[in-house]
Amino acid sequence: MKKYDYLLLRFGEVTLKGRNRARFEKAAVEHVRALLRPYPDAKIRREFGRIYVDPGSEQVETLIPILQNVFGMTSLSPVRAVAPELEAIVQAAGELVEAMQLTKETTFKTNVRRVWKGFPHSSQESNPLIASPLLKRFSLLKVDMRSPELELRVEIRDKAAYVFGNVIPGVGGFPLGTNGKAMLLLSGGIDSPVAGWSALRRGLEIECVHFHSYPFTSEQAKEKVIDLAQTLAEYAGKVRLHIVPFTDVQTSFTQIGQDNLMITLMRRAMLRIATRLAEREKALALVTGESLGQVASQTLPSMNVIGRATELPILRPLVMTDKDEIIRLSRQIGTYETSILPYEDCCTLFVPKSPTTNPNLRIVNKIEAVTPNLDRLIAEAVEGTETVELLAGGSRLRQAEAHAQASIDPDWF
Ligand code: ATP
Ligand code: MG
Repeated sequence: MKKYDYLLLRFGEVTLKGRNRARFEKAAVEHVRALLRPYPDAKIRREFGRIYVDPGSEQVETLIPILQNVFGMTSLSPVRAVAPELEAIVQAAGELVEAMQLTKETTFKTNVRRVWKGFPHSSQESNPLIASPLLKRFSLLKVDMRSPELELRVEIRDKAAYVFGNVIPGVGGFPLGTNGKAMLLLSGGIDSPVAGWSALRRGLEIECVHFHSYPFTSEQAKEKVIDLAQTLAEYAGKVRLHIVPFTDVQTSFTQIGQDNLMITLMRRAMLRIATRLAEREKALALVTGESLGQVASQTLPSMNVIGRATELPILRPLVMTDKDEIIRLSRQIGTYETSILPYEDCCTLFVPKSPTTNPNLRIVNKIEAVTPNLDRLIAEAVEGTETVELLAGGSRLRQAEAHAQASIDPDWF
């Protein structure tokens, strides 16, 4: 006997109402489709303006944790669809409760909505008719009309009656990509992958940019970042990662003899390069993993001077978040174990003994003006950028040229 016939996906009021509705719904369906790609037997259906997933031969228990990652989805519920007859409804409700494998006393109520007037009992009358046999059968169920832990909803229509199981929370946010595209500065650290996930959750499509300083940073450091971007791709369905050769830009600053401004200068150069890439890829903002006060480059004066290197808005999803909470999120999304691998990041390499927490914009501007060939080095870094396309499920496409549209290299499969 099949436990559930569908999973019902619910989206927030703001998401699926109003003028944006069609666009949001389409984005949500596409995201569901991308996440379900490894489960070809699961089918997506749209009925009564709602999104349902028919698990087909797939296990509902496997699909639930995957679908919980649909951005914009507030909750989901397993649903049984049965003949619109009292007996069938009571039986399906019983099976749903049984599937929950209650181990402690659970308060519940039924909530019946009769849409099809051909059903012989009114909504009012139906509630006790369905609830009483359940109370008899499951001694752990207790009625609570006000705030029950389990609300067993029944919707009776002419073709079928739908019995809804427990409400399972989703991640919320906005459907993927409905708020536009941004360029994420992705380091190998703990914070930026979490910032990337937060941006995705908020309805942004993201592309990632990573700066590496080979041979000062290892091949492993680069692989680590590819792994992190891959994890983001598991959430987004697809993510492009731009890997920028940063060695020459970085070393050009080491010769200036202003060690305490090293990080400020590097960050500004990163923002400039990221801005060029964002413009090229039509992204309208940059996203970083910065968190106020966390390190010298993330004090307010530092953020101020660094942020002036770009005209694009810098989104900092974690700016007010404590490290504990960032770590919790990073474990939750599955990037933590990779982030704490030890490989050097290009910024830790040239870190001065005492980086300034209060850089002076005028001095920084002057230094940049006299740094030999800085504009050229930045342009060359953009030129030399390599792009990797990561798809949910782990396959990679390496693109010979940053611009080139996916020409598939068979070596990568
Ligand atoms: P993270 O954990 O994300 O590395 P962090 O606390 O270590 O952050 P910093 O290393 O100062 O902070 O970096 C601040 C932000 O700058 C990062 O969150 C990231 O967005 C960006 N960034 C730093 N290094 C790189 C890099 N090598 N490539 C791309 N972006 C970077
Ligand atoms: Mg870092």
